[in-house]
Amino acid sequence: MNRLIKAMIICALLTHSGWTKVKVVASTPDLASIAGIIGGSEVEVISIAKGAVNPHYVEVLPSYMIKVARANLYLKVGMGLDQWADPIIDGSRNSKLTIVDCSQGVNRLQVPTGKVDASLGDVHPQGNPHYWLDPANGLVIAANIVEGLCKVDPANCQAYRDSYERFISDLKIRFGIWEKRAATLRGSQIVTFHDSWPYFAQAFGLEVVGFIEPKPGIEPTPSHTRELIELMKGRGVKIIGMEPYFSNRVPNSIAAAAGAKVIVLPPSVGGAPEIKDYFELFDTLIAKLTTAKE
Ligand SMILES: [Zn+2]
Repeated sequence: MNRLIKAMIICALLTHSGWTKVKVVASTPDLASIAGIIGGSEVEVISIAKGAVNPHYVEVLPSYMIKVARANLYLKVGMGLDQWADPIIDGSRNSKLTIVDCSQGVNRLQVPTGKVDASLGDVHPQGNPHYWLDPANGLVIAANIVEGLCKVDPANCQAYRDSYERFISDLKIRFGIWEKRAATLRGSQIVTFHDSWPYFAQAFGLEVVGFIEPKPGIEPTPSHTRELIELMKGRGVKIIGMEPYFSNRVPNSIAAAAGAKVIVLPPSVGGAPEIKDYFELFDTLIAKLTTAKE
């Protein structure tokens, strides 16, 4: 038998016997990181958005559709953050794809009640979608991912549940360490560029008192900037946290006028080279904030 035919037969056998890995596509690197921790060697995970780009705005590319076409499971952030995932999924024409909205069961913040609240801006219409920045929500995300993996790969369901139990105990131990390290931050007031931090602030006792954006997704305006400088001076706010994908021009000028400093706070895995997984995201954020506070 010639070599090519042999290789083709082996490939076909591998594909049909379930020896190939479960293919997971996640909207963001944070969901991908948790899926990798839960799935271990049984899964192959990729993220559409990269850590250093604004997750609200991702271009819908045919290459993403091809990746989803080959996937078993898609992990969405939900709450309106990754609306770009829908045309990618539709374009993949993958009728066997299982889709999991990882925001299911999350304790949601800033959800509009009654009439749609204009203060939510253009990009947070369903409440604040940056929920992965509270480690407690990391547990909810992981539970949703376990359900998705069990659905697409029932044979390994118990292994996924075991990983989930280990993830819970790991995260709880680390949360204790993060809380201790972040103790000096309790009650600190900060201003951030975008409203990415209410879950993080709630988890670690910070108070976010203003934003460079007048509303989520809206460019800074001169009048809003003047008000923000006055607010920061009045309350003695010394730290402006900026997501890595914004221009530092306006934050720097506000910091200079208000006597504050600007620090870059990456809200996602991969947002800085040292943030290689979901745990290192919190390691880095807490280190950056406590250093800025000194
Ligand atoms: Zn946002």
